[in-house]
Amino acid sequence: MEYPQLGLPLALELVNTQFALGGQPRDALQTPLDLQAWIELNSHQLDTSSHGLEPTEGDLERFRELRLAMRGLFGAAAAGGSPNTADVRTVNDASAAAPRFEWLDWSGAQTPRAQTMSVADGFAGVLAAVARSAIGLLAGGIQVQQCQAPGCVLFFTRETRRRQWCSAACGNRARVARHYSRHKRQMGPA
Ligand SMILES: [Zn+2]
Repeated sequence: MEYPQLGLPLALELVNTQFALGGQPRDALQTPLDLQAWIELNSHQLDTSSHGLEPTEGDLERFRELRLAMRGLFGAAAAGGSPNTADVRTVNDASAAAPRFEWLDWSGAQTPRAQTMSVADGFAGVLAAVARSAIGLLAGGIQVQQCQAPGCVLFFTRETRRRQWCSAACGNRARVARHYSRHKRQMGPA
């Protein structure tokens, strides 16, 4: 399981498991083992654990569904368009499947502590964390953008990259492509 991990918020890290290599579409999330590897790679962003559990085909299906919905929503946000209501519902359903609540942990002489508890853990908890990440990005006014380099389909945030490209490599490819198209125009029609 390899994909261009850019250190982005969880939701975009899932969306970016669909990428392009040499102009060919690739999908790094094809088997339950791929899903397990993705969760492992992004565990530092998760406050819920699926440790010791093995994802099923059904879990994989739910993550792929959420990924598709988020790709639609981030695409709409990047283009300044309207969302598909089914995509909004998919994200909300995933979030609602693992409600969270505050829990007061205080007994004896210890200092009172607040703990955030969830009624679901395992993969429903991870799926909900991804959905919450998407909600935070979309509703938090974070500018999400799709890479403008030819053939690249990755999303990133304006905060993490200031330019139109997801990476320096894509920036270079875009500059080279622009140079050649300008060169071609200067040469005129053959
Ligand atoms: Zn790119």
